[in-house]
Amino acid sequence: QCITHCPVGALRERSDTNEVWKAIEDPDKIVVAQVAPAVRTAWGEELGLAPEDATVGKIIDALKRMGINYVFDTTFSADLTIMEEGNEFVKRFTSGELKDRPMFTSCCPGWVRFIKSQFPHLVKYLSSAKSPQQMFGAVMKTYFAEKLGVSPEKIYTVSVMPCVAKKAEREMDLYYEEYAGHDIDAVITTRELIRMIRSAHISPQTLVDVESDRPMHEGTGAGVIFGATGGVMEAALRSAYYIIKGENPPAEAFTAVRSQGFNENDGVQEANFQINDITVRTAVVSGLGNTRELIRKIESGEVHYDFVEVMACPGGCVGGGGQPIHDGEERAFERGKNLYYLDRNANLRFSHENPDVIQMYKEYFEAPMSHKAHMLLHTEHKKNM
Ligand code: SF4
Repeated sequence: QCITHCPVGALRERSDTNEVWKAIEDPDKIVVAQVAPAVRTAWGEELGLAPEDATVGKIIDALKRMGINYVFDTTFSADLTIMEEGNEFVKRFTSGELKDRPMFTSCCPGWVRFIKSQFPHLVKYLSSAKSPQQMFGAVMKTYFAEKLGVSPEKIYTVSVMPCVAKKAEREMDLYYEEYAGHDIDAVITTRELIRMIRSAHISPQTLVDVESDRPMHEGTGAGVIFGATGGVMEAALRSAYYIIKGENPPAEAFTAVRSQGFNENDGVQEANFQINDITVRTAVVSGLGNTRELIRKIESGEVHYDFVEVMACPGGCVGGGGQPIHDGEERAFERGKNLYYLDRNANLRFSHENPDVIQMYKEYFEAPMSHKAHMLLHTEHKKNM
């Protein structure tokens, strides 16, 4: 991957590390960071850490040593996204709304920008669920601010992302009671994180595993695989099955949506699943060239799906434009394997079993797709915006 392939055309990389340092030094700010799943697969590559040593716990240690007050794992809000998006899919699917066109995932801003500019008539088929990055920001400035007893203005939210396009996605607004602002105040890429670790003179070899903060602490295997192509679909299907049948499927029931290897020219994975008497037809695609071809087939009626996952970067976020670059070498597939390993070994593998997500619904949102959830966790996609 390469920033010159960046789906949002961000040919010049914007650095936001100074903004983050300023917020850390500001005594009026409480700086709260989140770390996306794909970052843990790549941050150690330039710091001389082996993949098994480059844990998310060490990233949390590094961020805290820099002075960030609270650090969370975006895996938590990936689970929250699945709660909303999984329920949204089942509702739209069973109401017959998707008989002509599928519901498309919306957590990749490179793809969202692409569909808005190239296929605006399909925008209404995007999931309205915000991405895990945005959901986390919204929850930090509402639920978490209330827990701390401070106003949303005091909370400064930082995301550590594998992605350059997330810097544009953060412009999305948050309206909450008297507060109007952004879910996220600054986005730094994996490469910027590495630069911050170096400029803070933190020796990677001295980092130790530190747990993420509470109460948004737990993350499941389903949330972790968001970083690989097919991961959002697989996680959503695990929970959609539960919503429809009232019982869990085997955790490995939907592995057919996973990429079988890294092949930029053949990036579509399709699979049908039977849940009760319902057949759910799915497709997963990564890379915008592959996506354009898939949409051509959908529009011409050659193929028909109910649910389609799109990631702009070949291989998904593990191959994102903000990850370390190795000339002539594509590491997305190898990094993706790391996430599937973490999923296989996770205690919890279903987003709807995340105890901190369950608790948040009890205390705050009541239920997926509730009025409050719509206000804070969903967005209205408009054409050409
Ligand atoms: Fe960003 Fe992931 Fe989309 Fe690439 S695939 S643009 S890294 S969200």
